[in-house]
Amino acid sequence: MKSACGHTEPRTCESEARDRRQLAARVGPRRHRKMMAAKILDGTAVANQIRREVAPSVEAFTARAGRPPRLGIVLVGNNPASEIYVSGKLKSAGEAGLRADLERLPATATLDELLAVVERLNASDAHDGILVQSPLPEAMGDDAERRVFDVIRPDKDVDGFHPVNVGRLVQNRGTLVACTPSGIIELLERSHVTIAGSRAVVIGRSDIVGKPMALLLLHRHATVTVCHSRTPNLAQVAAEGDILVAAIGRPAFVTPDFVKPGAAVVDVGTTQVTDRATVEKLFPPESKRREVFERRGSLVVGDVHPDVAGVAGALSPVPGGVGPLTIAMLLKNTVTAAILRAGGAG
Ligand code: NAP
Repeated sequence: MKSACGHTEPRTCESEARDRRQLAARVGPRRHRKMMAAKILDGTAVANQIRREVAPSVEAFTARAGRPPRLGIVLVGNNPASEIYVSGKLKSAGEAGLRADLERLPATATLDELLAVVERLNASDAHDGILVQSPLPEAMGDDAERRVFDVIRPDKDVDGFHPVNVGRLVQNRGTLVACTPSGIIELLERSHVTIAGSRAVVIGRSDIVGKPMALLLLHRHATVTVCHSRTPNLAQVAAEGDILVAAIGRPAFVTPDFVKPGAAVVDVGTTQVTDRATVEKLFPPESKRREVFERRGSLVVGDVHPDVAGVAGALSPVPGGVGPLTIAMLLKNTVTAAILRAGGAG
């Protein structure tokens, strides 16, 4: 049987991790950080693979329908992170042969104005998928996102957030499933991480990551524990996981004591850190990450502490882990929606 890190002998992974920890104890924390012994779960490579697999379906649909699958993206306001995410999605869609267009609304737009745009895209025969970029401006109210997701037609809901699509996921018959967790499943499976029979721990219970992640792992026969801000003994519970998914939004929160030696660790977190002291504490001076921080004045940091690389059997990096997969699954969902709307033939 394979271990969570993909080795055929679980004890090998554990003993390797023990060796690494003993070495780290001898050489001190700075050397420990540089070891990076865990296998890299390469999200960029898997995302490229998924895009290549989707390409023939895009071509076939385009030839049959006389137009490419089309995605309508709605962006409200000009949140800098959202601008970057949206331009990445537009670029990737174009590269994959899809058509994606951007509907912009000012930050002062009302929820009714946004809902009117969504209704127009719902009614458009030319649009197969609709994505409303989160977060929405605070002025729209606490439940604005939920109200928007409720209005998007389920068959165009490429984010998989509509209650109908969530219900289908619960029943293990999802067609449009949330992109980030479904991308993580692709990453684990294609990296030969054994899910069936494993203990999986998900930290975070959001509707868009934590909950669908737990369901997808459960449907693949993992025994799943979902943790959150009120979970007592969090590190101890997390360390039971052969697979550990961290979707919290707190930089470097998951330290080595959260990790079972040899576990596969997926880092979903993406927090923009501008505080120099935090970056200096996490990354050594000569590292690429420090170089990026010096250049940009900020750094995207995951939920997993760099020292976890010395304990985990496999680890998804930030950046280059979950992020590219989220976009690849968005493209895949758009093609799926287009095919299903056209009658289901691939
Ligand atoms: P979210 O809605 O804010 O949920 C965060 C979850 O973490 C909540 O369930 C919260 O628990 C839990 N949490 C917060 N502090 C905790 C603590 N001290 N101990 C234990 N649990 C704690 O966030 P999200 O939308 O799921 O996103 C999570 C992270 O993933 C963010 O950094 C986000 O930017 C990133 N993300 C990345 C991608 C990507 O493509 N790379 C996609 C989506 C999200 P409670 O429920 O108890 O409050």
